[in-house]
Amino acid sequence: MNTVHFFFFFFFDTFFRNFYLNKNQKNYYNGNAINCTLNDTNKKYSFLNNDHLYMHDAEEKVNTSIHRRSYSASNNKKDVIRPESFNFIKVIGVGSYGKVLLVRHIKQNKLYAMKILRKENIISMNQLEHTRIERNVLKCVSHPFIVKMYYAFQTSKKLYFILEYCPGGELFFHLSKIRFVNEKSAKFYMCEIILALQYLHELNIIYRDLKPENVLIDEQGHIKLTDFGLSKEGVTESNSAKSLCGTPEYLAPEIVHQTGHGKAVDWWSLGIMLYEMLTGNLPFNGKSRSDLFEKIKHKKVVYPCSFSPVVVDLLKKLFEKNPKKRLGYGIKDAEEIKSHAFFKNVNWDDVLNKKVKPPFKPNLFNKIDLQNFDKEFLCLSLRSSDRHDSNPTGFDSNTINTIKDFNYNF
Ligand code: AMP
Repeated sequence: MNTVHFFFFFFFDTFFRNFYLNKNQKNYYNGNAINCTLNDTNKKYSFLNNDHLYMHDAEEKVNTSIHRRSYSASNNKKDVIRPESFNFIKVIGVGSYGKVLLVRHIKQNKLYAMKILRKENIISMNQLEHTRIERNVLKCVSHPFIVKMYYAFQTSKKLYFILEYCPGGELFFHLSKIRFVNEKSAKFYMCEIILALQYLHELNIIYRDLKPENVLIDEQGHIKLTDFGLSKEGVTESNSAKSLCGTPEYLAPEIVHQTGHGKAVDWWSLGIMLYEMLTGNLPFNGKSRSDLFEKIKHKKVVYPCSFSPVVVDLLKKLFEKNPKKRLGYGIKDAEEIKSHAFFKNVNWDDVLNKKVKPPFKPNLFNKIDLQNFDKEFLCLSLRSSDRHDSNPTGFDSNTINTIKDFNYNF
């Protein structure tokens, strides 16, 4: 895969919605419901009830009632989480604005992925709102195919996300080794991704950055979507998002045209992912960005003769340039895609309950076996500044550098 994936932001949305968790709703897991509200015309866009909550792992199942009760009792009674709460093991990834480390919580003796962002970079690159959105989305979601955030905290210089660790690494890493997969394996990944996107869309969140780098593999071989930095909340209209953002090769034509976009952009990128999984190549590529954008807007995709007719039919419907005609655009959203003949015989409940056997299970020698991560990242050195940053800022801190409403303890 020769593609250079990169992020860019030409225009930010004409206005930013100030998404916040109402103080009265701080008992996040209190009772039967969790609320996400957007401070835009005081409308409640999403109301999550128990149907939206899924257990992430057996351990969580056991601990859930304790955690839910203890959180609503008081935040202050919990241990304050800070960089020193962890042993830093290795750098396992690098994102657009920071790095990701494998860490072990010293008291819990549990592995996590720690995503570290420098406040200075985030602010100078105008990424504060995107970082807030990532934190808010991660806080609101709970789904078997979406990475779970356990904590978010900050020091005077950095922001930290503590996420569930996916030892299988990126789907991209595996694809780049084997180049492509057969239709059966591609269908497995598609099914799990579709359920994750359907869940996000039901919460009026568009993901906007589907690509194999953002699809992580857990211990069993199931997927977890990660990196919500480009997501957008409160998307109820088909053209309410305006930003030109994403990974160029995965951008839907309506993003390139900047005519406004909605949930259907995720179904376009789903098509790109399917094509890439089956061929090892991207359907739209260009010598320059403008060449690429012209192709996204006008080029008809050529399908290899090895593709089955049903895959070609699905891809044609996902690569519909007019979002209104694209499969998944309608009110039924993901259900339109799930009903396509390619997914005939799929038992979606089994998919959701992880009863479908993954085509590949990471072969791990031990819990900290890092063979599924790129050597390019593993050889990056750990800096003592990651661990020993000055002045941790607590939950209720009003320190000058504190980013309000960032800290979170599940
Ligand atoms: P991000 O900045 O979120 O895009 O993360 C950068 C890279 O770090 C990802 O592409 C993965 O390779 C790695 N990574 C991020 N989160 C995790 C996680 N929860 N478990 C394992 N690896 C991760």
